[in-house]
Amino acid sequence: MYAFGNGRADGSAAMRDILGGKGAGLAEMANLGLPVPPGFTLSARLCITYLEQGTFPDELREEVDRHLKQLERATKKKFGDARNPLLVSVRSGAAVSMPGMMETILNLGLNDDTVDGLIAGSENPRFAYDSYRRFVQMYGDVVFDLGKEPFEEVLAEAKRRRKVKRDIDLPVDDLKAVVDEFKAIIQSRTDLPFPDDPQRQLWGAIEAVFQSWRTRRALDYRRVHGIPDDMGTAVNVVAMVYGNMGDDCGTGVAFTRDCSSGERVLNGDVLTNAQGEDVVSGARTPVPIARLKRGKVAKLGKIYRDLERLAQKLERHFKDVQDIEFTFERGKLYMLQTRRAQRTGIAAVRVAVEMAAEGLISQDEAVQRVPPQDLDQLFHPMVDPRASVTVLAKGLPASPGAATGEVVFDADEAEALKKKGRDVILVRPETSPEDFHGIVAARAVLTARGGMTSHAAVVARGMGKTCVVGAKDLDVDPAAGRFRANGRAVKRGQVITVDGTTGRVILGAAKLVLPKVGAHFAKLMGWADERRRLRVRANADTPADARRAREFGAEGVGLCRTEHMFFEGDRITAMREMIVAADEAGRRRALAKLLPMQRDDFEGIFEAMAGLPVTIRLLDPPLHEFLPHTREEIAALAKGLKIPAAQLERTVDGLREANPMLGHRGCRLGVTYPEITEMQARAIFEAAGRVAGRGKKVTVEVMVPLVAHVEEFRRQAEIIRRVAQEVFHGEGRAVPYLVGTMIEVPRAALTADDIAKEAEFFSFGTNDLTQMTFGLSRDDAGRFLPLYVERGILAEDPFQVLDQAGVGKLIELAVRLGRGARHDLKIGICGEHGGEPSSVKFCHHVGMNYVSCSPFRVAIARLAAAQAALEEAGVVSRTRATV
Ligand code: PEP
Ligand code: MG
Repeated sequence: MYAFGNGRADGSAAMRDILGGKGAGLAEMANLGLPVPPGFTLSARLCITYLEQGTFPDELREEVDRHLKQLERATKKKFGDARNPLLVSVRSGAAVSMPGMMETILNLGLNDDTVDGLIAGSENPRFAYDSYRRFVQMYGDVVFDLGKEPFEEVLAEAKRRRKVKRDIDLPVDDLKAVVDEFKAIIQSRTDLPFPDDPQRQLWGAIEAVFQSWRTRRALDYRRVHGIPDDMGTAVNVVAMVYGNMGDDCGTGVAFTRDCSSGERVLNGDVLTNAQGEDVVSGARTPVPIARLKRGKVAKLGKIYRDLERLAQKLERHFKDVQDIEFTFERGKLYMLQTRRAQRTGIAAVRVAVEMAAEGLISQDEAVQRVPPQDLDQLFHPMVDPRASVTVLAKGLPASPGAATGEVVFDADEAEALKKKGRDVILVRPETSPEDFHGIVAARAVLTARGGMTSHAAVVARGMGKTCVVGAKDLDVDPAAGRFRANGRAVKRGQVITVDGTTGRVILGAAKLVLPKVGAHFAKLMGWADERRRLRVRANADTPADARRAREFGAEGVGLCRTEHMFFEGDRITAMREMIVAADEAGRRRALAKLLPMQRDDFEGIFEAMAGLPVTIRLLDPPLHEFLPHTREEIAALAKGLKIPAAQLERTVDGLREANPMLGHRGCRLGVTYPEITEMQARAIFEAAGRVAGRGKKVTVEVMVPLVAHVEEFRRQAEIIRRVAQEVFHGEGRAVPYLVGTMIEVPRAALTADDIAKEAEFFSFGTNDLTQMTFGLSRDDAGRFLPLYVERGILAEDPFQVLDQAGVGKLIELAVRLGRGARHDLKIGICGEHGGEPSSVKFCHHVGMNYVSCSPFRVAIARLAAAQAALEEAGVVSRTRATV
């Protein structure tokens, strides 16, 4: 256990694993001399011990007593004393922030005796009884697990009777009666009395907070954010300060910079005469803190200035944007929490670049600061500014981007529809942590109540999910399955668009476009590019893809899947003709149709890449992806081929494979039908010749897929090189080219030395390599793989995040064997992992030359590659341990 307060603390920010984020922040702030109410922290390790053993270590009671005594001395109050009672809050706080996921209890220590002491101290009976009723209510919800509803109902009824809006406006006698009713609810529903003894209250609360580590919503949150289950939460027992003692009191949340845009302005929300839960729950909509400056109460201007000064101090100390909870009691400001602020990708970039410009951090640190994955948000769609739209309502722009989907009012329904592949927008009066799985499932979240720091806003922003909160004009009625807004009604299932960048709620599906990225992004990427060693290419199948890839900064095409050129329009017919051809003559006829299409596309890609290397892979169609499936498709194809439909049906049946992913695909096609390889090589070299003929540079890399044995590669390479000579000879002009192979079959990795003697480059196809190393079908694993991740058998889906321990070992081996046989072997990766940050870093460390990923992920890969280089060079962020 660790005490803090009065300018000193046992712990510090560096002890986050033990103290949790909140405890570490309180300790560090106390050490810095900031006004922090005194208290003590029970370590997160105790949480795990408690959850495993179901009891506390024997000596804990004594320890808690000793710390309580210390707290009594620090506050000059006594726990359980009827005249001058010490009251505490009991708050959870894990090492990794999990906003709103776990429990908190305020005003602990109140009972029918101590409430008199609170009245005497505050000279405000109404405040004292309001605090009391809050305490019993939270205790009933959290410790007795009764939920909020039974208490909310009683309270709502009391307010209705008196025709008042706010709880605090209820007369003292009514509040007293509410407290009694709350206690009666607890007694009747649990058969247990509400504990009057503050000691029993305290232990009940500590246990409940520890147990809240294992609630469904906490487990869900950890799964989504990849937080381990064995960290546990700390418990902070802190002397109460009151934001609800009157109009010169209040509570709020402040951010040292704007976490949506990254702009350097102190901002946040505040509620006067309120406690923290009022802000977080979204039950009352707070006002921007800037209002404190010109509020009616003179003391509040001073609070604002103090807050500004302390916020700056914290930011300079931690060298990062802080998310601060504060309370002011009768004109005195207290800091209750500080932590690293969650931010959007856009804000992350701007903050990193501006902090470097301000000299707060170095450029290296700026590059290390931005989580590569967050760049994804910069390329989120937004509502086309030129589109005319019907705006139903406006709320606060809590998390940027725009999304379209069907309206649902219930988190379970959101999850169910998402599983069916539908896009949904979760609409709620306000969200609570119970809605978490619905937020995960939804494309966007919309709430009628709550501020920028409400649960929905914080959670959605952390996930980079579009979110609008506090849309006041929305009247949401989940039971009736509709909401009304400015005279219109929208029913469950109707489509709306939520614009988290502007706060608009739009009727129907608005046209979405991609935003233009700004100067901060360009600067950060410039710094990243100076630092990385890995080259970053894109996977691009068409000239349009290639152009986009260049815009994202791709330095070449690492994979052009030639069969993908035929997905579009009626091109697939020629491809199908080739596949179902009965003999070589038939195949050659179909190939002759494919050749000009391929040549034109290759030409476009070479043009777009302006001399940068372009890797073109020979056909690798798992046949089932291209076979005609329905009767209509077969009939149409038969007509085109001028053969009876029944005959074609038999051919198609004959081509069906039990296991197409391991079937007649990849170089196996080229081995059985060399004319396919010939046609493709011709199309490639003729296209290259045309571009070179215009005086432009072309760098061609021809890649053979699915090689398992060097002999397969040797024979394919022979054809490619022969055709190249023929074309060059005919045109009287040669272009430089390499012939290489994919390494995507385990046997190829194991015999990489043999293969490297023949192949001039390797490109790891980690999609197939993962499939074949795990023996997991890419097409079928979706049915059970999520369960593996859910149950913790696998930490991540290996098709998304490279399995370094298994597949990675094969890669390392192949790199070593390959370079042993050919020291200048060019090596890259073109599986999906080429755009996933941890996998990119792995590729850097094993010494690859480049990664190749989808155009949208090029920026992510560039940044991850720079971070890998900095990590390797041992450049460690100077940033203080942040909380
Ligand atoms: C791979 O297997 O990783 C790869 C890039 O090829 P494809 O996904 O087309 O099989
Ligand atoms: Mg493959």
